[in-house]
Amino acid sequence: MIQVDEIDVSYGNIQVLWDLSFEISEEDQVVSIVGPNGAGKSTLLSVMSGLHPFDDGSVTAWGEDVSEMTPSEIVQRGFVHVSEERNLFGDMTVRENLEMGAYTQRSSLEETMQEVFELFPILEERQNQRAASMSGGQQQMLAIGRGLMAKPKILALDEPSEGLAPKITNRVFEKIDEISEEVTVLLIEQHVHKALGLADRAYLLENGEIVTEDTGPALLESDHIKEAYL
Ligand code: ATP
Repeated sequence: MIQVDEIDVSYGNIQVLWDLSFEISEEDQVVSIVGPNGAGKSTLLSVMSGLHPFDDGSVTAWGEDVSEMTPSEIVQRGFVHVSEERNLFGDMTVRENLEMGAYTQRSSLEETMQEVFELFPILEERQNQRAASMSGGQQQMLAIGRGLMAKPKILALDEPSEGLAPKITNRVFEKIDEISEEVTVLLIEQHVHKALGLADRAYLLENGEIVTEDTGPALLESDHIKEAYL
């Protein structure tokens, strides 16, 4: 579905991604990209979402060149990115935030919202509450729910456990596992253990380069991961 081929990416004249390649195919349920702070994980997502340009290489989504598409066209093709900042509208209600995520007709919007409510019953209970008044974990569920409202083929989650207590983090990962039965999830995480446990395919990104790639469980067993991250 998405093919990233030998891309170089910079901020001004500082290069942060080097010759980076990876892909997400139809068969993948969870693809994880793990690596330390500043490795370039969020930058990679921005490039795939059409929010940041690349200097060299190519990125194709469903056979089309991403550099020729606007960010909203990329969403409509099926790549939805839930950013680390969550970007909720705090003064709007939970329901209004979900509606903002939808790119569909009104009739199917209600149907999709029911699917999101089945996955996250708390959002249905709190649908008329202001988003800003929800807890951190609930806001993360809302951000994921809003991403699902666009009916993605690939849901990219940037650090979904950021700032959450361990118990809530576990809950979020359970939901991600459930979502991945229907939608391919691209998971960007510093919580290496959890992200690799779920992944059919995983990449370790360090200093802007992919240093190793394997199935999630195999990568968890690698000496490098054990020594540096666990
Ligand atoms: P984190 O988990 O901390 O977000 P990351 O792996 O997602 O880390 P990026 O945020 O993609 O890493 O950052 C990669 C590199 O690019 C870092 O060296 C960072 O300082 C730099 N960088 C990120 N955003 C900008 C920006 N807007 N301008 C200049 N440099 C940036």
